[in-house]
Amino acid sequence: MYQTIIIGGGPSGLMAAVAASNSTDKVLLLEKKKGLGRKLKISGGGRCNVTNRLPYAEIIQNIPGNGKFLYSPFSVFDNESIINFFESKGVKLKEEDHGRMFPVSNKAQDVVDTLVETIKNQHVTIKEEEAVTQIEVTPSHTFKVQTQNNTYESQSLVIATGGASVPQTGSTGDGYQFAESLGHSVTELFPTEVPITSNEPFIKSKELKGLSLKDVELSVLKKNGKKRISHQMDMIFTHFGISGPAALRCSQFVYKEQKNQKKTHIKMAIDTFPDYNHEQLKQTIRQLLTKQPDKAIKNSLHGLIEERYLLFMLKQSHIDVNITSHHLSNQQLNTLVDNFKGFTFEVNGTLPLDKAFVTGGGVSLKELHPKTMMSKLVPGLFLCGEVLDIHGYTGGYNITSALVTGHVAGLNAGNFVFQTQ
Ligand SMILES: Cc1cc2nc3c(=O)[nH]c(=O)nc-3n(C[C@H](O)[C@H](O)[C@H](O)COP(=O)(O)OP(=O)(O)OC[C@H]3O[C@@H](n4cnc5c(N)ncnc54)[C@H](O)[C@@H]3O)c2cc1C
Repeated sequence: MYQTIIIGGGPSGLMAAVAASNSTDKVLLLEKKKGLGRKLKISGGGRCNVTNRLPYAEIIQNIPGNGKFLYSPFSVFDNESIINFFESKGVKLKEEDHGRMFPVSNKAQDVVDTLVETIKNQHVTIKEEEAVTQIEVTPSHTFKVQTQNNTYESQSLVIATGGASVPQTGSTGDGYQFAESLGHSVTELFPTEVPITSNEPFIKSKELKGLSLKDVELSVLKKNGKKRISHQMDMIFTHFGISGPAALRCSQFVYKEQKNQKKTHIKMAIDTFPDYNHEQLKQTIRQLLTKQPDKAIKNSLHGLIEERYLLFMLKQSHIDVNITSHHLSNQQLNTLVDNFKGFTFEVNGTLPLDKAFVTGGGVSLKELHPKTMMSKLVPGLFLCGEVLDIHGYTGGYNITSALVTGHVAGLNAGNFVFQTQ
């Protein structure tokens, strides 16, 4: 009989094992795959963006999927606790842009190794290639956990099976079924932090493929043309649509607007010069044109923006690229500025869940005690990490959520004693 069984050896399960084994040496970690922390190893491009140093309020803002739920677990274990944990184990971290924290070594493997060494030192029993198939609550309120080969029993159970994105890492969504089999509800799952697809002729022709735009404002538009969400960051055109940080952040809102508008094709807009208003941009362009009035417009505007995008914008504005500046009418100039400030195009969805960085939706948070991560329905059952209905933007927010909820779940599971009411 174990005190705590943890299902899943990702960041949430590993941190749960660290916290649980602080108070008991009867902890069992079951991992489906060979090797722990497979997704963690590839996170942050193999560098692992392990947490974020922004103030709470900003962290929460960057977790559009129920970030507010984390205020309570943060009061027990927060981003600074994560930093202290790794630095106390000898993994020095460094801060990059937007508060993003990485190991100084730039090796995600160091993060994984630290978690694994800690739980080994704290005598956690680790079983790899041991996929859980079924969970049962016994009449004596313990948990019977069935794998392909064995049955294990424990006083408390932590489900830390992750989401359903990038399933080759082991996160195949098993936890949703486990939670449902124990009476929990799972909200609709959808891909987030995922490239966006479009059938626009300029995408199909691949004329902009590989072109990246720096620091533009990308927006998802509502039915009435107003902006549902905007993100000012870099983006890139691909052979199927758009990607890059701004597109990844907008992706969940494409899904949500498709649902709201009840149609697959919705509109997005790119403002290439978000720091200028229409008039300022018009003046800037006019100045460039008057400097070289006899040159072709494509040459006099050289350097304003990446050349391929300039030519594309001229084409979209029905302006001959070889027209000389003094032949450009005021109306044509206004059209060009309008396109730079708000080029709208249609998108028809995103790549599927298995290609997403993160899974949106998950086990309903209404059924959990946020201070302990224990189920309100099944005493002794704890849930943490991406299996929950929490999802953040890229930037270390998802791993933060996994480590924080994992720590709180493990802490309370390790000390759990069933009490009759
Ligand atoms: C390519 C990529 C890069 C990313 N980069 C970042 C980043 O830099 N920063 C950031 O914050 N987030 C990043 N994310 C998201 C982040 O990695 C996840 O949110 C995080 O790993 C979730 O942790 P978790 O412990 O909940 O789940 P997971 O890491 O998915 O771990 C779940 C574990 O449970 C195991 N499991 C599943 N079912 C069973 C079962 N039936 N029996 C036993 N074990 C089971 C799985 O094998 C897996 O090991 C990235 C994601 C991807 C795909």
